[in-house]
Amino acid sequence: MDYQAFFIHSLSHLKQEGRYRIFIDLERSCGKFPHAVHHTEAGPEEILLWCGNDYLGLGQHPKILEAMTTMLAKTGAGAGGTRNISGTTHSHVMLEKELADFHQKESALIFTSGYVANETTLATLAHFLPNCLILSDEKNHASIIHGIRNSRAEKKIFKHNDVSALEAHLKSVDRSRPKLVVFESVYSMDGDISPIKEMAELAKAYNALTFLDEVHGIGLYGERGAGVAEHLGVADQIDIIQGTFGKAVGLIGGYITGKAALVDFVRSHAPGFIFTTSLPPAICEGVRASLNIIQNHPEMRHHLHSVSSYLKQKLRAQGLPVMESTSHIVPLLVGDAKLCKHLSDELLKNYKIYVQPINYPTVAKGQERLRFTPSALHTKAMVDDLVKALAEIWQAFKAIAA
Ligand SMILES: *Cc1c(COP(=O)(O)O)cnc(C)c1O
Repeated sequence: MDYQAFFIHSLSHLKQEGRYRIFIDLERSCGKFPHAVHHTEAGPEEILLWCGNDYLGLGQHPKILEAMTTMLAKTGAGAGGTRNISGTTHSHVMLEKELADFHQKESALIFTSGYVANETTLATLAHFLPNCLILSDEKNHASIIHGIRNSRAEKKIFKHNDVSALEAHLKSVDRSRPKLVVFESVYSMDGDISPIKEMAELAKAYNALTFLDEVHGIGLYGERGAGVAEHLGVADQIDIIQGTFGKAVGLIGGYITGKAALVDFVRSHAPGFIFTTSLPPAICEGVRASLNIIQNHPEMRHHLHSVSSYLKQKLRAQGLPVMESTSHIVPLLVGDAKLCKHLSDELLKNYKIYVQPINYPTVAKGQERLRFTPSALHTKAMVDDLVKALAEIWQAFKAIAA
């Protein structure tokens, strides 16, 4: 086996298919978000980010930085162990209490990322529940798909957000068989929101457990910012609510919340929880400060939603094909991989605006798009500049193509 040749060949295959990923070299500047520095071959230049997940700009909030530096000085850098072997610090214990309260659940459990929370919780539950059947939305995140796969339980994939498709699956199996219905609140590629209430009612009627990924809802929806389920008043109808600290919370890490026995079961069996070093206490303190801000400053999410609506309205007014998003996410359907990459390249080169092109296989061919994620720190003036730039590039490209 020629290992080197194998890797090089695989990479060139990716490049041929247009699937090779290029990361741009960024440096965030604290206090300047959504501006960042782009390191180019010609040197550093300042750009404006339109595709970040730090939705509320909390990654640079002074109160969060202060909570973190205080804890860093007090307890040092790392947690020093797995949760079981000396890595459960007072910060972990307090944060789990606060997360349970945030979602009005009995209990919470922290993981090192939202990916790990999904993967190991789903793999564990579906593996141990006898003869468990998983019902999973076709557009669920990769972390959910991998968790399901690793459980080796039987799965049925239902049509995206389709309540009757879900019911057809639920009907087809024995009522007494353990079932786990897995879906997200906000689907971040299309920006649509799932019918949480209807799904939860249906699952209950067929005695199935529900698992809801609120990764793109936390901090942005609900009176206290606990997500779409809180906003709809149905959080108590969901068995497991999963979230991340990596997006609106502004840090890193993930969690689940639910009934005490279920969470304790995951704590006791999930390899992705047990056999890994716990988050540094300074991170936990940053998250606690962040949750405090999220709960007490609804005006941040209100501003984000108003910028998002303004962006959709301006794009529409320019005749640009903004997709029917019902959330804060603003996808612009380009429908052509070349134009999509061209728009992104031109925005960066000539306007110092960065938005990542979304091409196949993340979305189907013909569904290529630019996906804008406004934050609480974007302004209407930034929207005006963005839309003006987009309209100019689009017109110029059309003129050449015609
Ligand atoms: C980002 C994301 C995750 C993973 O969260 P991380 O904390 O970044 O690992 C899980 N689910 C969805 C829907 C996501 O978009």
